[in-house]
Amino acid sequence: MSKTLSPLDFRRNAAQAVKDEPLREAMRIATDMFMTKRAQGLSMVPIELWRDQASAIRLDVLDHLPEYVDRFSSSATRAGAVMHRARDAEAAREIIFHILRDRGAKKIVKAKSMITEEIHLNEYLEDRGFQVVETDLGEYIVQLAGEKPSHILAPAIHKNRRQVGELFSEKLGVPYSDDPTVLTKIARGVLRKEFLTADAGISGVNFAVANSGSIAIFTNEGNGRMATTLPPLHIAVLSIEKVIPTLKDLSLFSRLLPRSATGQVLSSYLSVITGARKPGESTGTRELHIVLLDNGRSEILAGEYREILKCVRCSACVNICPVYRTIGGHAYGATYSGPMGIVLTALLEGMDKAYPLLDATTLCGACTEVCPVKVPLVKLLAMLREQRVNEGLNPLMERATMATYALATKSPWLFSLGQKISRALWPIMRKFAGKGLLGRLPNPASRTFRERIS
Ligand code: SF4
Repeated sequence: MSKTLSPLDFRRNAAQAVKDEPLREAMRIATDMFMTKRAQGLSMVPIELWRDQASAIRLDVLDHLPEYVDRFSSSATRAGAVMHRARDAEAAREIIFHILRDRGAKKIVKAKSMITEEIHLNEYLEDRGFQVVETDLGEYIVQLAGEKPSHILAPAIHKNRRQVGELFSEKLGVPYSDDPTVLTKIARGVLRKEFLTADAGISGVNFAVANSGSIAIFTNEGNGRMATTLPPLHIAVLSIEKVIPTLKDLSLFSRLLPRSATGQVLSSYLSVITGARKPGESTGTRELHIVLLDNGRSEILAGEYREILKCVRCSACVNICPVYRTIGGHAYGATYSGPMGIVLTALLEGMDKAYPLLDATTLCGACTEVCPVKVPLVKLLAMLREQRVNEGLNPLMERATMATYALATKSPWLFSLGQKISRALWPIMRKFAGKGLLGRLPNPASRTFRERIS
């Protein structure tokens, strides 16, 4: 799918995705695997206790966010990082551009980062002549394909290995193979040269520790560690709610997040970076800049949807969502997909730009049950649906139907008449409805409830 999809086209995008058999097969295999491994990973730990603790930590952070952000900034500055604050995406892009330009950087290696997707950083830098190379294997694949990530942790989840083999063959001029080991080795060979010749590395951040000024990055491929230590300059971008109070809290999240995401006991690599390289140290970047992005978070924090900011981007709610599992992430036409993505997109982009996404949920509650930090996703989704109705953005047919139904339910006589008419007209409506929603509804009962009890 192209990168120009919009949430406003959700219904059309979803209808196309449902017909895409290779996509549905890839989604089925990957999300089944994630959920099976998650269940195994959580079976041996006191998960409800951990969820309570994690939720309490995140709530405490939200209750005192400005103080924690200030504390993190002071600690990171003391540790040798240069701090920047960005009110919105444009400010963040400009800050990063100036840092890179002032140091004469040309080539940038990137570790996977959804926050830089949110601010559309790659396009911005490429338009200004920088070479940006994604180094996470999934991100590298979608970058080669000219696409966007379709999952917050597994960007190329929508592609099967045959498609990746064809892509590598076409773009890199290598012999076709669909063997994942061969494909990984090919990518590693290409990316190794990029790491060694890059002028700067850009990464996201999983958590920022207020007391120590450290940033923590969880990866599985080691690319994050190379992108943040090999180039002389590292720019880390994070949204303000990623702050946690102490390194002890990081210990809980380092066990909880990977288990919730992929069932892993720990991520393969956990980098905790505290400032730039100090005199006498042999590793680490020479210059570390940290960009703290607000981009609407302060507004969300002040409102009734604030608990979405507890989210630690584990993707468990995405993997279990029956809608996401069926259509994949591109159909949402937004940076973030799945249940947390709907809420975030509606809040970050505005209801008028995202309201069709509120149909991308069955409100089954599975997302809320798996969330490791107890984000009340179903409640937030229902509240957003109510807001959509209040703003008059739900479909015209839905509004007309509900208004008619409301009118009828106010009068037993009218309700009974409506039942009789709709039952009489039902065969005709079914005939013309075809395979649409009306055509798929079950036939009305032969006797109404009131007829049965009278
Ligand atoms: S809302 Fe919860 S389950 Fe979903 S990504 Fe965020 S932390 Fe994970």
